[in-house]
Amino acid sequence: MPRGKRKPEQQDAQQAQQRRRRAQPKRSTSEEEIKSISESLSERLIQALGLDLIGLKAVDIKDIVYSIVGSLAESRSSKLTEEAAMKRIVAMKDNLFKTIAASLLSSGRPLTREQLEFIVAYAPEIAGRAAPYLYREAVRLRADDIIGSLRALWSQYGRPTPVECPRCGFRAVTPDLTCIVCGAQLSEGELKRHLNFASLLQGLASRLHPRLVEEIISAGYVVLDDDVRPPSMAPRQGFAIVIHLSRAEREALSGLLSAQQSQTKGGEPGAPQAS
Ligand SMILES: [Zn+2]
Repeated sequence: MPRGKRKPEQQDAQQAQQRRRRAQPKRSTSEEEIKSISESLSERLIQALGLDLIGLKAVDIKDIVYSIVGSLAESRSSKLTEEAAMKRIVAMKDNLFKTIAASLLSSGRPLTREQLEFIVAYAPEIAGRAAPYLYREAVRLRADDIIGSLRALWSQYGRPTPVECPRCGFRAVTPDLTCIVCGAQLSEGELKRHLNFASLLQGLASRLHPRLVEEIISAGYVVLDDDVRPPSMAPRQGFAIVIHLSRAEREALSGLLSAQQSQTKGGEPGAPQAS
């Protein structure tokens, strides 16, 4: 971890401590009591919540527990007992799990498979946003099944782009053809093969007005977001990607266009001619 960058929960714990010092006269649970309750609860919670199964020890959660016990003590006028704090934390264990997941992520330590599963299961929003990092961890752990869940969470909570990466399968290809998740630098050729570009063009030519097909042929590119579009129909914002047409692809489009025009010959006198 870089110097000067403290874990958020450490900062929280310190701020809570400062707040408590200032508010000392009003509080009925002393700093010593909060410390001793937190220490005891850190041990008990590891067992009670099965956190030992993801390799955690009391010392790993003591800052988090201290911070929660501190706020529980602050929020009541009567003295906080260990049992009351235990009950409250167990009842809100999903929140505790989310905080633990975030601290596992920010620790920068390599994750175990169990920890990766834990983050995906209990902090899906965080996992979705951190998918690029978690993807690399999952690849290192050869956890293909977890990669599948990460793809879905990235699409739901991350920053998905319209175009799926041929290498990692995440919707994460940006306009400069790099993948946000796996970092691949793609070529247009690789992307075209993945998209089955020839048949996409064919479909496009059969449903667009011939004038728009001509526009594509003369511009020499299409714009790709959730669909393939002629340049004039490019979306104003977002992650649309420009894909250039090869000479063969342009000729194929011209061929389709003249085939269509010869079929409708005479039916549409105003139809533009392919040049
Ligand atoms: Zn990728």
